[in-house]
Amino acid sequence: MGVIVQKYGGTSVAGPDEIKRVAGRIVRTAEAGNRVCVVVSAMGHHTDELVQLAAQVSLDPHPREMDMLLTAGERISVALVSMVINDLGREAVSFTGSQAGIITDTTHGKARIVEMRRGRVHEALDEGKIAIVAGFQGVSTAKDVTTLGRGGSDTTAVALAAVLEADVCEIYTDVDGVYSADPRICPTAVKRREVSFDEMLELAASGAGVLALRAVEYARNHDVRIHVRSSFNEAEGTWIIKEEDMEQAIISGVSHDSGEAKVTIRRVPDRPGVAGRTFRPLANAGINIDMIVQNTSVDGLADISFTLPANELGRAEPILSELARAIGADGFTSETDIAKVSVVGAGMRSNPGVAAAIFEALADEGINIEIISTSSIRVSCVVPAAHADRAVNVIHDRLRLSDDVIIAGGEAASA
Ligand code: ASP
Ligand code: MG
Repeated sequence: MGVIVQKYGGTSVAGPDEIKRVAGRIVRTAEAGNRVCVVVSAMGHHTDELVQLAAQVSLDPHPREMDMLLTAGERISVALVSMVINDLGREAVSFTGSQAGIITDTTHGKARIVEMRRGRVHEALDEGKIAIVAGFQGVSTAKDVTTLGRGGSDTTAVALAAVLEADVCEIYTDVDGVYSADPRICPTAVKRREVSFDEMLELAASGAGVLALRAVEYARNHDVRIHVRSSFNEAEGTWIIKEEDMEQAIISGVSHDSGEAKVTIRRVPDRPGVAGRTFRPLANAGINIDMIVQNTSVDGLADISFTLPANELGRAEPILSELARAIGADGFTSETDIAKVSVVGAGMRSNPGVAAAIFEALADEGINIEIISTSSIRVSCVVPAAHADRAVNVIHDRLRLSDDVIIAGGEAASA
């Protein structure tokens, strides 16, 4: 008998009707002869509402109490889903993250899973029950309730799939799968049948919101097959699998992220050790830096530019002023009206010319590129925010991402 882990996101359990529909789907999965463990997110936008509620009573809510508050959302949805399943004649039991044996570190607000204990979920499945687990939460090594970061129910599901040795971790959401671009801004975007773990990691890190980054990391490390699909229809979604299991390596998609800001530190003395002194204080403050470029120096001085999440800029600015002074730079500038557009595909490794095709497509549209960074399977460009949607579309067109093709030397060749 196979084990299936299913995760239902907030929109899939937004209200009583949705919860009844999802419960029906869970029961059908069990009836088909599977052992079923389900992870549920908070109903609709409940987590956001709880965040706002906290902001109304406290200027700077204590992280431990914030986690205590936010985990309540999932506690409500698991209980409701279980009730409906019981009414439908199957036995279901709900569990908090702690009861499900999810042990995390003590970083409130974005705790990492450090251990998955076998326990009540296994027992429930052995007894033929359906286990319904509250997403996005665990219990810390200091025995406090923690959350895994926004969108963390995906991580809960993948971690349970790993410890239960599930055949598949199904992530149910309100979209049909992973698309070659965000269909809301790119009408010609198509659904991908397969995406590799590495591609999905790059996509999740560059703005594709369909899966939480840490969930993909966990899945890659523990070899958990993920099937991202819609809870509103029966269609096959997208499989996230090992690259060697894929039929062919192509260019999977183009993502965009408007939530980044760009900082330039002006006229930094070009001496060994300066980059370390520049980025250490930001790292110590837990600020995640992304694309970094240092210009070649003129007269022993070089500009250093990088991107960071725009919502971290407020915290970064005092640190930047201080460090510009300390390293003898001329100061810094910051811009938030930028967007990062990224093209991701394992097919890049063996097909030269992809980067050139991207730059030409942007040039033909008169879109200026402010920063470029690459990995072996990604090319990212920072462009003015106002041109982001157009950039996605022209790149999608130029690389013919709607067709099943691989790009060779800027020309699309049939795969
Ligand atoms: N309810 C949490 C959130 O909104 C966790 C999740 O949905 O995955 O971030
Ligand atoms: Mg979510």
